[in-house]
Amino acid sequence: MNGEIGLIVKFGLFSGLREDEMVYVYDRPECNNLSGCYCNNLHALQKPNGISIILIQWHRGHKKCYFTITPTSIFEDFKSLTSFSYSPHIKSAHSYIKTKDATLNFMWLRKAHYNVMCKKMKPFEANILAWGAKTVDAKHYAMYELDLMSKSYVESWLKFGININ
Ligand SMILES: [Zn+2]
Repeated sequence: MNGEIGLIVKFGLFSGLREDEMVYVYDRPECNNLSGCYCNNLHALQKPNGISIILIQWHRGHKKCYFTITPTSIFEDFKSLTSFSYSPHIKSAHSYIKTKDATLNFMWLRKAHYNVMCKKMKPFEANILAWGAKTVDAKHYAMYELDLMSKSYVESWLKFGININ
């Protein structure tokens, strides 16, 4: 997979974000204050193992997205796209995936991500990533458990033969 569409598919798979969350993450500026800042912008914590934890803290309705874990290089490439929106980018990514397998779609990427995470992470951690959690839990993880989670993330993908480092 090459080019912008390949990158978008990869970011979808490795981040497990919903489509509207991907658009939100693209549009939102990054904040440089990484020491417990509560502003509305993205806070990207880079880990030495090539993984970034992106604090998103976005909710609308009953859907909540506190943070995601993704390879730093894929996140940076995604943020460097000259533009990104549902149409044409996500639409094109859908079409691209359909040419590979008509049964696949972005929701599948999200499920694949969740399944991969479940191979290594504790169900509670994977659930936080996939579905959000109560604010207190998310903050607890943000403060204390993120190193561990970034390691689990790498190990999860390794189980499928994908070396992120
Ligand atoms: Zn901030």
